[in-house]
Amino acid sequence: TTAASATGSGSTAGPVTEEMLARGRRAHELDRKHVFHSWQAQGPFSPMTIVRSEGTRIWDGEGRELLDFSSQLVNTNIGHQHPAVVRAIQEQAADICTIAPQHVNDARSEAARLIAEIAPDGLEHVFFTNGGADANEHAVRMARLHTGRKKVLSAYRSYHGGTNLAVNLTGDPRRFPNDNPGDGIVRFMPAYPYRSYFGSTTEAEETERALRHLEDMIVLEGAQNIAALLLESVPGTAGIYTPPAGYLEGVRELTERHGIMLITDEVMAGFGRTGEWLAIDHWGVTPDLITFAKGVNSGYVPLGGVIMSDEVYSSFVDRQYPGGLTYSGHPLACAAAVATITAMRDEGMVENAKRLGDEVIGPRLEEIKAKHPSVGDVRGLGCFWAIELVKNRETKEPMAPYGGSSDAMNAVLGAIKSGGVLPFANFNRIHVVPPLNVSEDDVRTALDVIDRALDVADQHV
Ligand code: PLP
Repeated sequence: TTAASATGSGSTAGPVTEEMLARGRRAHELDRKHVFHSWQAQGPFSPMTIVRSEGTRIWDGEGRELLDFSSQLVNTNIGHQHPAVVRAIQEQAADICTIAPQHVNDARSEAARLIAEIAPDGLEHVFFTNGGADANEHAVRMARLHTGRKKVLSAYRSYHGGTNLAVNLTGDPRRFPNDNPGDGIVRFMPAYPYRSYFGSTTEAEETERALRHLEDMIVLEGAQNIAALLLESVPGTAGIYTPPAGYLEGVRELTERHGIMLITDEVMAGFGRTGEWLAIDHWGVTPDLITFAKGVNSGYVPLGGVIMSDEVYSSFVDRQYPGGLTYSGHPLACAAAVATITAMRDEGMVENAKRLGDEVIGPRLEEIKAKHPSVGDVRGLGCFWAIELVKNRETKEPMAPYGGSSDAMNAVLGAIKSGGVLPFANFNRIHVVPPLNVSEDDVRTALDVIDRALDVADQHV
């Protein structure tokens, strides 16, 4: 087998054996009997079996090859089975499998050093978690303890994780069945130019109005009670709606002026996804706390964390930080992070994501939008793009309702998959989120498949 590379095809199409398919059939049977899946009604759920994965490709239970343009849950930023990362995990396992968080371990120290190097100056302390949800929970806890305040401002149309507080911090329909009023979370309207809540007709207007709304919220809620403002630097699952120019800078200025800790969630947008190491790098914003997970080691072993400013860190020099996890900074996960970050640097993956976004994905999606009346908006950067489908471009009526699905969306997604591409989809959107080391040829192939599949969506306009 060969490695995925920024310049190569991204994978080799090796054979899927009968034995793999037989194992897949048995796995599917056992899965339906014993595995309880997240975010699903278990009865009708029919999960896809994956029997092999490599580079940008996966093979399903029938042995069909698919281009993985979902990056699973937008986490395999370096593609599947990157040999350097697989080797690092194997070597770490042979050396030391597990060490409790209170001890020193070289994989953990080295991962923290590399992550601090990626973060803006002044943020060099890393608290490790098992994933993104607990990273957000801890960032909020740190901000509350540091400021002595309780309220947290969080955006509508956001996703911050599935655990108790994180799902409540979330501003999307997954919160509804989990709602916990009284948790001190106050939601605000984010800047979202395509569906402006403020009636804006230009990006500049949207920035100005969204910031005025946010300042009103802060004043009306009482700045002295607000510990933190949490937002995704580029909201992911909620629609990859890139912030208009000046918005994040304005949020930073407002929070600073009111003594509110700014937490930017880089769980999905971070580690190269947008064509910069962190999405905030596009706007030169320095938050007080940054949360990360997913791309830090492409999810090869669960890992997340919080990067904190010197100021927040100083709060816990003379008093205990009351929180921790048995597997915090797990050596296997940290060894995978060190190898991932190193491979991303050596192979120029972040630069590849930027170039593909600027020169290939962006222009091609604009062509697709011009051609298909069902496409209301295309937006994104790097390897992080959304196609928003509508029944009517004037009214912007979505192709599937907020929080739901529709026959039309299912038909489009079916056509994309039949064309050999696995997309990431949410409500009325198709997300184009390939691994960062995907080849230009694979991107062009996948976008041609999506282009053809959108003929199906046009029939529903
Ligand atoms: N934050 C963002 C922006 C995410 O996209 C996600 C997951 O999709 C999370 C947090 C939660 O991360 P995890 O599923 O690792 O807990």
